Amino acid sequence: MNGKNLVVADNTVVRIEYSLTLQDGEVIDSSAEDGPLEFLQGAQEIIPGLEAALYGMSVGERKEVVVTPDLAYGEYDPDDYQVLPLDAFEEGVELEPGMEIEFVDEESGEPITGYISEIQPNAVVIDFNHWLAGETLHFDVKVVGIRPALPDEVAHGHAHSGDHHH
Ligand code: ZN
Repeated sequence: MNGKNLVVADNTVVRIEYSLTLQDGEVIDSSAEDGPLEFLQGAQEIIPGLEAALYGMSVGERKEVVVTPDLAYGEYDPDDYQVLPLDAFEEGVELEPGMEIEFVDEESGEPITGYISEIQPNAVVIDFNHWLAGETLHFDVKVVGIRPALPDEVAHGHAHSGDHHH
């Protein structure tokens, strides 16, 4: 197949260059640092608002995409926090507001990430909102590659690229 004639569609593996800017103008992520991002289109590997905007684009095309929180990392939920006793944490670990802490969800066994939002004399408040919850995201995105997905990639629901093999 000739990649030049492909457009972004379900079951294509897409490579993008991008920069991600918050509403206040702060650039928080960019392919200039980590290299282009590669993913399987239609498999929810990237946030829904960005994925939806890419359909039909071809290689070399560039677009500015504004994604509201509902199509990005969700609205901020002020009730999504937990207060843990200070002695639940290992001694000698320096706790700081903003610190990321990995937990395991007791019901599902899935890892979940929380952030320390407050340290009290005997307790620690953990915020389970994603750190980008409530943020409107501005993407400047350019498609730099499109190829048909391999059967394995479609079956797994993600692109196999770089060191991502399983
Ligand atoms: Zn896989």
